[in-house]
Amino acid sequence: MSANQAVSQISQAEPGMRDYDLECRTFSWDREAKYLDGLPGNGGLNIAHEALVRHAAGKLAGIPAFRFIRSDLSQQDYTYGDMHRLSSRFANVLLALKLEKGDRVFTLLGRIPELYVSALGTLKAGGIFCPLFSVFGPEPVLQRLSRGDARILVTTTELWKKRVVPQADRLTFLKYVLLVDAPDHLDGGVLSYPLLLSQASESYQIAPTNPEDPALLHFTSGTTGMPKGAVHVHRAVLMHELTGRIVLDFHPGDIFWCTADPGWVTGTSYGIISPLVNGVTSIVDEEEFDAERWLTILQQQRVTVWYTAPTAIRRLMRLDYLPRERYDLSSLRLVCSVGEPLNAEAVVWGERALGKKILDNWWQTETGGILIANYCGVPVKPGSMGRPLPGIEAGIAEVTDTGMKLLEEADRQGNLVIRNGWPSMFRAYLHDPDRYQRSFRDGWYVTGDLARRDADGYFWFVGRADDIIKTSGHLVGPFEVESVLMQHPAIEEAAVIGIPDPVVGERVKAYLVIRQSVHWDNHLLNDVTAFARRNLGTAIAPKEYTVVAGLPKTKSGKVLRRLLKARELGLPEGDLSTLEKS
Ligand code: ATP
Ligand code: MG
Repeated sequence: MSANQAVSQISQAEPGMRDYDLECRTFSWDREAKYLDGLPGNGGLNIAHEALVRHAAGKLAGIPAFRFIRSDLSQQDYTYGDMHRLSSRFANVLLALKLEKGDRVFTLLGRIPELYVSALGTLKAGGIFCPLFSVFGPEPVLQRLSRGDARILVTTTELWKKRVVPQADRLTFLKYVLLVDAPDHLDGGVLSYPLLLSQASESYQIAPTNPEDPALLHFTSGTTGMPKGAVHVHRAVLMHELTGRIVLDFHPGDIFWCTADPGWVTGTSYGIISPLVNGVTSIVDEEEFDAERWLTILQQQRVTVWYTAPTAIRRLMRLDYLPRERYDLSSLRLVCSVGEPLNAEAVVWGERALGKKILDNWWQTETGGILIANYCGVPVKPGSMGRPLPGIEAGIAEVTDTGMKLLEEADRQGNLVIRNGWPSMFRAYLHDPDRYQRSFRDGWYVTGDLARRDADGYFWFVGRADDIIKTSGHLVGPFEVESVLMQHPAIEEAAVIGIPDPVVGERVKAYLVIRQSVHWDNHLLNDVTAFARRNLGTAIAPKEYTVVAGLPKTKSGKVLRRLLKARELGLPEGDLSTLEKS
């Protein structure tokens, strides 16, 4: 069979899950564990073994695990066998540097092979891996390295000089810096990564790993405040396997592209671990978003499963053509989105523009993996986040300082809560045990997001608890208002906040990004005002509009409503380490 025939076959593959209710009824974590190997000789569970070692010993050894796409669109493949050998070398380097179990290994790298090798080598060696986004400035880097108690940092000479050297006296806990582009060691603490790797053995036996041993440290996006460090354990791999199989619907031969950077949890859980555990090939683009480039990659690489974010989708929606009119996207079998609410309009646009409905799913840094999802092969309700994964119990609750009450009836709005104990649940907030304790009530994790569940069990995102607006006795979720505004043909993006008001409590204010081809004037303002009132009712429709060139967003693409509010009210702007510079 030719490569093209193989891709066309995989593009037509049947969904792995067809009957959601049956899957939920018959599900057990014990059954799920059968999809994994466990370490040989009763040695426990290690993510790197499940992701790499077992495949490298079998028929996937010669299959690309990663295909790196460079700036000039040239590509380089690393097979499962290559990744296994390289990460074993890296694990041996860590051993030689006296890394102890639970020590933290950080990377500050672009999406280049060394990042992926370091991740898997660290997991093999029993360290805790923490990837930092390479465009962080010196202060956010210092903050995270010091809060994370980094022992070893893998980076480039340029980043080391710019981000680390100026603060070296505040980084005394950092034992070694490994430079991926230095041919020789610089001194006893600043070493050449390629030299160390070339001298290390490529045979490494993973030490016994308890499933509860910490494996990953991830900082949250900082959308609502100071980023928090969430700690995850090796057991999380059960969730990575399950969600890869039934949400991303991985099949042997799939070409998968997760566009997130590993500096955000999506780029590690789904840019590294889940596709490897499920034995598929991942595309890794070293560049940032560019509409033409991304569409070219989808076409050239014959991507079958694409996992991206609403911010990218909305940018593609700006194009003055539908992508599939100019690009051959026929290989796409599934497109999924995460990170921000996906408005119904975007879901429907996907069908016209990409040939596939875009399936939204929900999770957080703290949850370690997808917990609520729309599934291919199962009816989708556009605008909804979908239904909980089998094995996951999600609810809507009224939460107080000391307890909570589940709201069983359909369509009640409340806190989205998840029953404790799923495998990829975070096990700590770094240096903040009190906050960790406060995140749980009566055996449930309180997510901080507000949602409602309809009579069919689908969950609908309302907003973050912090962003909810109380106006004239109504609780208004920004998403509901923003989704309606974005249906107006002149509006490309919208963000909504509440401004304190002596009469109505808070009045709704909207920030609008207007389509390039449109001129904003009083006539259009009146039209938008009338449109919003007609669709939302006068109580909920915004009372004020401001047109802006762009919305402030985190580097992971989330709208920073707290910053809009702080600026509006002249309050301190808070932590801006994750703010995307526009
Ligand atoms: P911080 O916790 O520091 O404020 P953050 O919550 O943005 O940052 P992440 O863990 O990266 O950090 O993001 C998780 C949040 O993203 C969720 O709690 C939710 O608010 C939002 N989110 C994720 N997926 C979806 C989705 N499908 N629909 C709506 N919101 C989503
Ligand atoms: Mg959060």
